Amino acid sequence: MNNKRNVLVVLSGPSGVGKGTIAKKLIERNKNLSLSISCTTRKPRDGEADGKDYFFITKESFNEKIQKGGFLEYSNHFENYYGTPKKFVLDTLCDKDVLLEIDVNGGLEVKKNFNDAVLVMIAPPSIDEVRNRLIKRSTESLEKINLRMERIDYELSKKDLYDYTVINDDLLTAIEEVEQIIKNEKNK
Ligand code: ADP
Ligand code: 5GP
Repeated sequence: MNNKRNVLVVLSGPSGVGKGTIAKKLIERNKNLSLSISCTTRKPRDGEADGKDYFFITKESFNEKIQKGGFLEYSNHFENYYGTPKKFVLDTLCDKDVLLEIDVNGGLEVKKNFNDAVLVMIAPPSIDEVRNRLIKRSTESLEKINLRMERIDYELSKKDLYDYTVINDDLLTAIEEVEQIIKNEKNK
Protein backbone atom coordinates (compact mmCIF):
# COMPACT_ATOMS: atom_id res chain seq x y z
CA MET A 1 0.00 0.00 0.00
CA ASN A 2 1.25 3.50 -0.82
CA ASN A 3 0.88 5.55 2.36
CA LYS A 4 2.96 8.52 1.24
CA ARG A 5 1.17 11.85 1.25
CA ASN A 6 0.43 13.73 -1.96
CA VAL A 7 2.16 17.09 -1.93
CA LEU A 8 1.33 20.47 -3.40
CA VAL A 9 4.61 21.83 -4.75
CA VAL A 10 5.01 25.49 -5.71
CA LEU A 11 7.84 26.64 -7.99
CA SER A 12 8.48 30.38 -8.05
CA GLY A 13 11.33 32.65 -9.05
CA PRO A 14 12.15 35.49 -11.43
CA SER A 15 10.83 35.39 -14.96
CA GLY A 16 13.48 33.77 -17.19
CA VAL A 17 15.14 31.78 -14.40
CA GLY A 18 13.97 28.49 -15.92
CA LYS A 19 10.84 27.57 -13.91
CA GLY A 20 8.87 26.49 -16.96
CA THR A 21 11.74 24.39 -18.28
CA ILE A 22 12.18 22.67 -14.91
CA ALA A 23 8.43 22.15 -14.49
CA LYS A 24 8.13 20.53 -17.93
CA LYS A 25 10.96 18.10 -17.21
CA LEU A 26 9.59 17.25 -13.77
CA ILE A 27 6.26 16.32 -15.33
CA GLU A 28 7.93 14.19 -18.02
CA ARG A 29 10.08 12.36 -15.48
CA ASN A 30 7.52 11.84 -12.68
CA LYS A 31 4.30 9.98 -13.42
CA ASN A 32 2.78 10.86 -10.05
CA LEU A 33 3.17 14.61 -10.62
CA SER A 34 0.55 16.71 -12.37
CA LEU A 35 0.98 20.32 -13.54
CA SER A 36 -1.79 22.80 -12.82
CA ILE A 37 -2.57 24.92 -15.88
CA SER A 38 -3.20 28.52 -14.85
CA CYS A 39 -5.62 31.02 -16.33
CA THR A 40 -4.18 34.25 -17.68
CA THR A 41 -5.32 37.41 -19.41
CA ARG A 42 -1.94 37.59 -21.21
CA LYS A 43 -1.94 36.98 -24.96
CA PRO A 44 -0.49 33.63 -26.10
CA ARG A 45 3.10 33.65 -27.34
CA ASP A 46 4.01 31.98 -30.62
CA GLY A 47 3.75 28.24 -30.09
CA GLU A 48 1.66 28.46 -26.92
CA ALA A 49 -1.66 26.62 -26.95
CA ASP A 50 -4.85 27.22 -25.00
CA GLY A 51 -5.34 24.53 -22.35
CA LYS A 52 -1.73 23.37 -22.62
CA ASP A 53 0.39 26.34 -21.53
CA TYR A 54 -2.42 28.40 -20.02
CA PHE A 55 -6.14 28.89 -20.29
CA PHE A 56 -6.07 32.22 -22.15
CA ILE A 57 -9.15 34.14 -21.06
CA THR A 58 -10.48 37.69 -21.16
CA LYS A 59 -10.38 40.12 -18.22
CA GLU A 60 -14.17 39.75 -17.97
CA SER A 61 -14.06 35.94 -17.57
CA PHE A 62 -11.15 36.29 -15.16
CA ASN A 63 -13.22 38.66 -12.99
CA GLU A 64 -16.18 36.30 -13.17
CA LYS A 65 -14.00 33.44 -11.90
CA ILE A 66 -12.74 35.62 -9.05
CA GLN A 67 -16.35 36.42 -8.05
CA LYS A 68 -17.25 32.72 -8.11
CA GLY A 69 -14.29 31.79 -5.90
CA GLY A 70 -12.78 29.73 -8.71
CA PHE A 71 -9.14 30.54 -7.91
CA LEU A 72 -6.93 29.07 -5.22
CA GLU A 73 -4.92 32.28 -5.64
CA TYR A 74 -4.49 34.94 -8.27
CA SER A 75 -2.15 37.82 -8.86
CA ASN A 76 -1.63 40.77 -11.15
CA HIS A 77 1.85 41.25 -12.59
CA PHE A 78 3.52 42.25 -15.86
CA GLU A 79 0.25 44.08 -16.71
CA ASN A 80 -1.81 40.86 -16.68
CA TYR A 81 -3.76 38.61 -14.32
CA TYR A 82 -2.71 35.05 -13.57
CA GLY A 83 -4.67 32.56 -11.42
CA THR A 84 -4.63 28.94 -10.25
CA PRO A 85 -7.87 27.01 -10.83
CA LYS A 86 -9.00 25.76 -7.42
CA LYS A 87 -11.07 22.73 -8.45
CA PHE A 88 -8.35 21.11 -10.54
CA VAL A 89 -5.81 21.36 -7.73
CA LEU A 90 -8.11 20.04 -5.01
CA ASP A 91 -9.45 17.17 -7.16
CA THR A 92 -6.00 16.14 -8.43
CA LEU A 93 -4.42 16.16 -4.98
CA CYS A 94 -6.67 13.21 -4.05
CA ASP A 95 -4.64 11.02 -6.47
CA LYS A 96 -1.38 12.76 -7.27
CA ASP A 97 1.20 15.35 -6.35
CA VAL A 98 0.44 18.73 -7.92
CA LEU A 99 2.94 21.26 -9.26
CA LEU A 100 2.18 24.99 -9.47
CA GLU A 101 4.49 27.34 -11.35
CA ILE A 102 3.42 30.73 -10.02
CA ASP A 103 4.82 34.04 -8.77
CA VAL A 104 5.90 34.66 -5.15
CA ASN A 105 2.71 36.48 -4.13
CA GLY A 106 0.70 33.50 -5.35
CA GLY A 107 3.02 31.05 -3.60
CA LEU A 108 2.69 32.84 -0.27
CA GLU A 109 -1.08 33.02 -0.67
CA VAL A 110 -1.20 29.25 -1.29
CA LYS A 111 0.85 28.65 1.87
CA LYS A 112 -1.68 30.63 3.92
CA ASN A 113 -4.43 28.18 2.93
CA PHE A 114 -2.30 25.04 2.67
CA ASN A 115 0.27 25.02 5.42
CA ASP A 116 1.59 21.71 4.05
CA ALA A 117 2.35 23.16 0.61
CA VAL A 118 6.05 22.97 -0.28
CA LEU A 119 7.41 26.28 -1.57
CA VAL A 120 10.51 26.06 -3.77
CA MET A 121 12.27 29.21 -4.98
CA ILE A 122 14.20 28.78 -8.21
CA ALA A 123 17.09 31.25 -8.12
CA PRO A 124 19.49 32.19 -10.94
CA PRO A 125 23.29 31.80 -10.76
CA SER A 126 23.43 35.58 -11.46
CA ILE A 127 21.15 38.45 -12.49
CA ASP A 128 23.03 38.82 -15.80
CA GLU A 129 22.24 35.21 -16.59
CA VAL A 130 18.50 35.91 -16.25
CA ARG A 131 18.77 38.70 -18.82
CA ASN A 132 20.75 36.37 -21.12
CA ARG A 133 18.09 33.68 -20.80
CA LEU A 134 15.23 36.11 -21.48
CA ILE A 135 17.05 37.45 -24.54
CA LYS A 136 17.80 33.91 -25.72
CA ARG A 137 14.16 32.88 -25.22
CA SER A 138 13.20 35.88 -27.40
CA THR A 139 9.51 35.77 -26.52
CA GLU A 140 9.36 39.36 -25.25
CA SER A 141 10.33 42.76 -26.58
CA LEU A 142 13.28 44.52 -24.92
CA GLU A 143 10.79 46.76 -23.12
CA LYS A 144 8.96 43.74 -21.68
CA ILE A 145 12.26 42.08 -20.78
CA ASN A 146 13.19 45.19 -18.80
CA LEU A 147 9.84 45.07 -16.99
CA ARG A 148 10.59 41.47 -15.99
CA MET A 149 14.16 42.37 -14.93
CA GLU A 150 12.78 45.08 -12.62
CA ARG A 151 10.89 42.45 -10.65
CA ILE A 152 13.83 40.09 -10.00
CA ASP A 153 14.84 41.64 -6.67
CA TYR A 154 11.26 41.56 -5.44
CA GLU A 155 10.83 37.86 -6.26
CA LEU A 156 14.17 36.90 -4.69
CA SER A 157 13.52 39.05 -1.59
CA LYS A 158 10.84 36.54 -0.57
CA LYS A 159 13.15 33.54 -0.61
CA ASP A 160 13.45 33.32 3.17
CA LEU A 161 9.68 32.81 3.33
CA TYR A 162 10.03 29.83 0.98
CA ASP A 163 10.82 26.33 2.29
CA TYR A 164 13.68 25.70 -0.16
CA THR A 165 15.87 27.54 -2.67
CA VAL A 166 17.33 25.73 -5.68
CA ILE A 167 19.84 27.48 -7.95
CA ASN A 168 19.20 26.74 -11.61
CA ASP A 169 22.75 26.80 -12.95
CA ASP A 170 23.10 23.31 -14.40
CA LEU A 171 19.59 22.31 -15.47
CA LEU A 172 19.77 18.59 -14.65
CA THR A 173 21.23 19.28 -11.20
CA ALA A 174 18.37 21.70 -10.46
CA ILE A 175 15.76 19.18 -11.63
CA GLU A 176 17.26 16.43 -9.47
CA GLU A 177 17.36 18.75 -6.46
CA VAL A 178 13.65 19.53 -6.79
CA GLU A 179 12.91 15.81 -7.20
CA GLN A 180 14.82 15.04 -4.01
CA ILE A 181 12.87 17.74 -2.14
CA ILE A 182 9.57 16.24 -3.30
CA LYS A 183 10.71 12.73 -2.35
CA ASN A 184 11.72 13.86 1.15
CA GLU A 185 8.50 15.82 1.64
CA LYS A 186 6.36 12.85 0.60
CA ASN A 187 7.99 10.77 3.32
CA LYS A 188 7.27 13.31 6.08
P1 ADP B 1 10.69 30.97 -16.74
O1 ADP B 1 9.61 29.92 -16.89
O2 ADP B 1 11.26 30.99 -15.36
O3 ADP B 1 10.28 32.32 -17.21
P2 ADP B 1 12.00 29.48 -18.90
O4 ADP B 1 11.82 28.08 -18.41
O5 ADP B 1 11.13 29.94 -20.02
O6 ADP B 1 11.92 30.52 -17.67
O7 ADP B 1 13.54 29.62 -19.29
C1 ADP B 1 14.06 30.83 -19.88
C2 ADP B 1 15.12 30.45 -20.90
O8 ADP B 1 16.27 29.93 -20.20
C3 ADP B 1 14.68 29.37 -21.88
O9 ADP B 1 15.20 29.71 -23.16
C4 ADP B 1 15.34 28.09 -21.34
O10 ADP B 1 15.63 27.17 -22.38
C5 ADP B 1 16.63 28.63 -20.71
N1 ADP B 1 17.12 27.85 -19.57
C6 ADP B 1 16.39 27.28 -18.56
N2 ADP B 1 17.20 26.68 -17.65
C7 ADP B 1 18.48 26.88 -18.09
C8 ADP B 1 19.78 26.50 -17.58
N3 ADP B 1 19.93 25.81 -16.44
N4 ADP B 1 20.86 26.88 -18.27
C9 ADP B 1 20.73 27.62 -19.42
N5 ADP B 1 19.54 28.00 -19.97
C10 ADP B 1 18.42 27.65 -19.30
P1 5GP C 1 4.68 34.26 -18.13
O1 5GP C 1 3.95 35.46 -18.63
O2 5GP C 1 6.18 34.36 -18.37
O3 5GP C 1 4.10 32.95 -18.60
O4 5GP C 1 4.51 34.24 -16.54
C1 5GP C 1 4.82 35.38 -15.80
C2 5GP C 1 4.79 35.06 -14.33
O5 5GP C 1 3.47 34.64 -13.95
C3 5GP C 1 5.70 33.92 -13.89
O6 5GP C 1 6.40 34.33 -12.72
C4 5GP C 1 4.76 32.80 -13.56
O7 5GP C 1 5.26 31.93 -12.57
C5 5GP C 1 3.57 33.57 -13.04
N1 5GP C 1 2.31 32.80 -13.05
C6 5GP C 1 1.91 31.91 -13.97
N2 5GP C 1 0.72 31.38 -13.61
C7 5GP C 1 0.39 31.94 -12.41
C8 5GP C 1 -0.73 31.78 -11.51
O8 5GP C 1 -1.65 31.01 -11.72
N3 5GP C 1 -0.72 32.55 -10.40
C9 5GP C 1 0.29 33.43 -10.12
N4 5GP C 1 0.21 34.10 -8.97
N5 5GP C 1 1.34 33.60 -10.93
C10 5GP C 1 1.40 32.85 -12.06
